[in-house]
Amino acid sequence: MKSRAIAAAVLALSFIAFPTGAQEKLKATASFSILGDFVKNVGGARTAVATLVGPNGNAHAYTPSPADAKKLADSDIVFVNGLGFEGWLERLVKASATKAPIIVATKGVKTPERSSDADHDHDHGRTDPHAWQSVANAKIYVANIRDALSAADPARASTYQANAAAYLAKLDALDQEVKSVIATIPPDRRRVLTSHNAFGYFDAAYGIHFLAPQGVSTDAEASAKDVAAIVSQIKKQKVGGVFLENVTDPRLVQQIARESGAKMGGVLYSDALTEEKGDAPTYIDLIRHNLRQLAALTS
Ligand SMILES: [Zn+2]
Repeated sequence: MKSRAIAAAVLALSFIAFPTGAQEKLKATASFSILGDFVKNVGGARTAVATLVGPNGNAHAYTPSPADAKKLADSDIVFVNGLGFEGWLERLVKASATKAPIIVATKGVKTPERSSDADHDHDHGRTDPHAWQSVANAKIYVANIRDALSAADPARASTYQANAAAYLAKLDALDQEVKSVIATIPPDRRRVLTSHNAFGYFDAAYGIHFLAPQGVSTDAEASAKDVAAIVSQIKKQKVGGVFLENVTDPRLVQQIARESGAKMGGVLYSDALTEEKGDAPTYIDLIRHNLRQLAALTS
């Protein structure tokens, strides 16, 4: 008798604690893995986060599937990078007929001035979309996500505020860590080469200069002439190292390293996280991994 009464009380309590609807997770979709990680950190346990371009995926050259349209149609809220990163998105949004608000997570990010030096930029006039490569910019993404989730789901606004505050504190510490590690790299090694120009914001924030045979997107092929020019540039002005990326074909960069005699470094994660078991399943892991690769140039 007593246990039945307790069971009834527990049942009643559970209805009080979770009124209808509150148990349902808010369904959020992020266009790519790094942005998905930001949304997970702010959304916490009460948000179900799906991503379109997954781990090690190249969002510049992505072909959406019918499953992606369904993800958008089922979403309560959608987060995108913007700045021309997801050229395929607008059509997908239309095809999905989603009613979800589309939130541009880079709103308020200061985009770099176009450099006028002959720095091998094939994307004349294009905006660099890789804003997340500066941790200070990642904080802008997080603030935008916090505000958008709070507006979409006001009942849990205080949770989103608290989650964002905790994550922003981690990002502050990460930003300091990047600065202190980079300070240990000799200035003459702070020039490196990678496949595509994904590290402009990192360069501006932390002072490691990146050369790249491809521009801010990966859709334009570098010509033989471009490659020859960059090889002769490296021979004249030494680079600290040549790095591969997880989202682009390694052959071009390997060829440049061979022809220029530059030291081959490891893999940098530019536009995507790795799988769970990889070196960079989260944004903080990604920045730390890249930092270790760059710091190896000191030895
Ligand atoms: Zn990119």
